Amino acid sequence: MQGKIAVEEHFAVGETTAKTARYPTKGYWADLRRRLTELHDERLAAMDRAGIEIAVLSLNSPAVQGVPVAADAIDLARRANDFLAETVAQRGNRFAALAALPMQDAEAAALELARCIRDLGFKGALVNGFSDIADGESVVYYDRPPYLPFWAEVERLGVPFYLHPRDPPPSQALAYDGHPWLVGSPWGFAVEASLHALRLIGSGLFDIHPKLQIVLGHLGERIPYDLWRLDHRLKQVPGLRMKRTIADTFAANFHVTTSGHFSTPALIHAMMALSADRILFAVDYPFEDNDQAASWFDTAEIAEADRMKIGRHNATRLFGLSLP
Ligand code: ZN
Repeated sequence: MQGKIAVEEHFAVGETTAKTARYPTKGYWADLRRRLTELHDERLAAMDRAGIEIAVLSLNSPAVQGVPVAADAIDLARRANDFLAETVAQRGNRFAALAALPMQDAEAAALELARCIRDLGFKGALVNGFSDIADGESVVYYDRPPYLPFWAEVERLGVPFYLHPRDPPPSQALAYDGHPWLVGSPWGFAVEASLHALRLIGSGLFDIHPKLQIVLGHLGERIPYDLWRLDHRLKQVPGLRMKRTIADTFAANFHVTTSGHFSTPALIHAMMALSADRILFAVDYPFEDNDQAASWFDTAEIAEADRMKIGRHNATRLFGLSLP
């Protein structure tokens, strides 16, 4: 399929690469770092080969979320967003942008999002899970009451909020002790992102701000598979704050993307759980390979009308891209 839009494609600025540098295979990180920081010829060639017309770009993980001092996080987010805006301006027909946000300070995050949407033409935000705060040992999740004005601003601006994973917080180290392979993208990412998404739902956030749209990568971080069981077991739990079921909330306030999850059975399950209208194509470049993602997606056994929705039309609508 030509003309695909890929919506979870990452870049890095020099100072955000350090915490991502953990891959032990010789040469792997050097190659990854080059492709994270390269935003022109190599990236565009890889997009062309895979039939990707537009990449929606976002900063790597954890980046701004891993900066515990709020003033530093605010400064880094602003500089990264300005850099991204310049890059997108040079390739407006190939790139769109999602804002990095200093969620350590809810008010500053709302201001930065408004600046990015209004002044820089960004299409939404991508935040890498919880934010480090204070001494770097504490973290903050965004279901807490101080974030309600932030969410009101996201709803007012009418842009999607992409909740991207990061490693679990240091307080969870015991659960992974002796098994570092579980911490990152194989499993821990999904645990962390799904937990955060469920916290948002359980807080009643989507009853207060029913127009909010959250995007989850990796075909929904395992949540679509568990929707029935979540609601089934929650019938026994008194005093929940949300008014709707998790399945109903997920179907109304969430989209999921194919980033790094190129499995046809998983895709078809997500389509059954959410409908093809709420699934978007993504690669997770450069952590994943454009060619592998495209060759899978282009031949996956789904209806052509659904392939067009997932590959292009849903992203055009959700991110408000003006395309011919
Ligand atoms: Zn990613």
